[in-house]
Amino acid sequence: MTTPQRQRPVHALTVTGTEWLTPHMVRVRAGGPGLAAVPDNGCTDAYVKLLFFPDGRPEGAIDPAALRAAGRLVTRTYTIRARTADELVIDFVHHGDVGLAGPWAAAAKPGDDLLFLGPGGGYAPAPEADWHLFVGDTAALPAIAAGIEALPVGARATALIAVDHPADEVKFDTTADLDVRWVSPDSLVEEVRAVALPTGSGHVFAHGETGAMKQLRPVFAGVDRLSLSGYWRKGMAEPEFQESKRTDAA
Ligand SMILES: Cc1cc2nc3c(=O)[nH]c(=O)nc-3n(C[C@H](O)[C@H](O)[C@H](O)COP(=O)(O)OP(=O)(O)OC[C@H]3O[C@@H](n4cnc5c(N)ncnc54)[C@H](O)[C@@H]3O)c2cc1C
Repeated sequence: MTTPQRQRPVHALTVTGTEWLTPHMVRVRAGGPGLAAVPDNGCTDAYVKLLFFPDGRPEGAIDPAALRAAGRLVTRTYTIRARTADELVIDFVHHGDVGLAGPWAAAAKPGDDLLFLGPGGGYAPAPEADWHLFVGDTAALPAIAAGIEALPVGARATALIAVDHPADEVKFDTTADLDVRWVSPDSLVEEVRAVALPTGSGHVFAHGETGAMKQLRPVFAGVDRLSLSGYWRKGMAEPEFQESKRTDAA
């Protein structure tokens, strides 16, 4: 006898508003009665799988596995930047007119559906760490910002963040002892290699473009706690990128 697989619930919210944070980052807020059912997993990198339907949203209940198999569902992965009693906040990089989620967010308007699976996640800054290091690019900026804002008062932290333009830099709301360095995507790896990691117990969060993250893994070999992950890959849409991760892991 086969045990039926428990289906992951589909969460349904409604867009309540959008705002451009920088020329390449658009914030989408969403709320509604479905918000209460979205679990809070306590991770500052909590992420969801947004659902997009190439032929339009199907009538009735949504079976993600069946729709995906039929080519009627595609997903994109996004961080929950913040959550209030009424709203969930997601910040999207708008990397031009290519792709699905970036252009969707740029055009989103109040009343639009926001459907997703999740959340997953695996990181929150360890309060007992002696120092913290955040490394990433604009795709990881929402998770980096949430992590920085969760640091205890006076925590020692450094962030190296790659942006294409100075206008894409943002401010962090933190009481930590934070040193932020904005760098270009081409120099991120070299800049991180040049950082003298402090002694003591460290906690590193390094997420972003996969090629850069792969080069950085050996740099953090001796670090006590490491969260390192590729978020996207140059020249690959997300489905192809996720498939390449599965092939690499096999
Ligand atoms: C756990 C997790 C959390 C994430 N959180 C966020 C988040 O909060 N905000 C966010 O913006 N992204 C986030 N990302 C990255 C996001 O899922 C990818 O960038 C995704 O590919 C964007 O989908 P798209 O439909 O816009 O582009 P796709 O259709 O997937 O890709 C189209 C083309 O655009 C390129 N591309 C994709 N992303 C970028 C980018 N950021 N910059 C430049 N070119 C790109 C691709 O290489 C491809 O050539 C996260 C990824 C993961 C795994």
